[in-house]
Amino acid sequence: MAARETFFETFADDLGPSKIIHLYDPRTDLKAIVVVDNVAIGPAIGGLRIAPDITTEEVFRLARAMTLKNSAAGIPHGGAKAGIIGDPHNPDKEPLIRAFARKIRTLTEYIPGPDMGTNEQCMAYIFDEIRRCVGLPRALGGVPLDEIGATALGVSEAAWLALPFIGIDPQGARLAVQGFGNVGRHSARFMAQRGVKLVAACDSTGTVHLDRGLDIEKLIEIKAKEGTVLAYPEGDRLSPEEIIGLPCDIMVPAARPDAITKANVEQVQAKLIIEGANIPVTEEAERILHDRGVLCIPDFIANAGGVICGAVEYRGGGENEALAVIREKVSQNTRQLLERLSAPELYPRQAAMHMATERVKTAMTFRKFT
Ligand code: NAD
Repeated sequence: MAARETFFETFADDLGPSKIIHLYDPRTDLKAIVVVDNVAIGPAIGGLRIAPDITTEEVFRLARAMTLKNSAAGIPHGGAKAGIIGDPHNPDKEPLIRAFARKIRTLTEYIPGPDMGTNEQCMAYIFDEIRRCVGLPRALGGVPLDEIGATALGVSEAAWLALPFIGIDPQGARLAVQGFGNVGRHSARFMAQRGVKLVAACDSTGTVHLDRGLDIEKLIEIKAKEGTVLAYPEGDRLSPEEIIGLPCDIMVPAARPDAITKANVEQVQAKLIIEGANIPVTEEAERILHDRGVLCIPDFIANAGGVICGAVEYRGGGENEALAVIREKVSQNTRQLLERLSAPELYPRQAAMHMATERVKTAMTFRKFT
């Protein structure tokens, strides 16, 4: 009892959480936690992850992040998250996933999606049981977000508004991409369509740097074949970390959290950072960059393309609709964010948080129950 009171005293606020549910199925040994944080804007979308050490507190924090991300994205969905306590590498997840789906059959305000340890196949099992999830295989009406570059399209849309805001012409602007994976390589491709020049790219093996510009399609092909950007035949080869300090105008961190921290922020030469990964720049480093005049577009504004894609898929839309909605919503949100930044005392993340919470709170005023 005391522990439960402590949880609510510590975490509950005027947004939520709305429901915390612990699930147990003795037949399959399913142990899972679902937190529905806030459904004022609509039924909550949030990933289902599998991890051995997942806790209620962690699931709540992730659910709150989804409330803010979905609200900031401007999609008609609230935030939730779920975690199955188990081995993410278990080769036979089907019984657990099906048991989980059956347990949430009547929890209609929660729509699961893929996350760490789950994939589109897991979503297909959930769909088979309860017909309610996002991130399905194409054969079941899913929109393959990594294949179409959903998140990267949003990243480049954010760039088209942010570049003129800081007085940089996209034509010839130098781009460095940290993490040349799904988000990173598609961001480079989309940005090149307006004349941006990729001068550096890295993956977990190292960085390739060529000031006159890398051939993006060639780099994608080489990385797919050889598994490393270092196989590109020209340019300087450096460690993965060295990309942070290279001369460039735009940097897209699209690898891991905490790539730019207080320890390396002074090395940053970019004038614009568009956050492709989740929390790739710590809040402290974001503030230091802002004070130095470097514009950071926060993750949940810039990388919302994936969740927007899921929302379009959920209402039965296809690829073309998803791409159009991503363009519209990410540019609208970036424009609003930039307008708010004309108040110099606001940091971009604070401004983005205000946008997200204002929308949820306004929606809550229209609801009898949330
Ligand atoms: P990915 O696995 O396709 O690509 C990640 C790339 O980062 C790989 O090339 C990898 O080699 C590289 N990398 C890993 N560790 C690195 C390190 N320490 N230094 C340099 N490079 C490193 O992943 P992705 O789908 O492109 O996602 C990238 C990030 O963006 C992840 O953190 C993901 O959670 C986040 N994200 C992805 C999406 C999406 O739609 N895929 C949406 C929102 C956020």
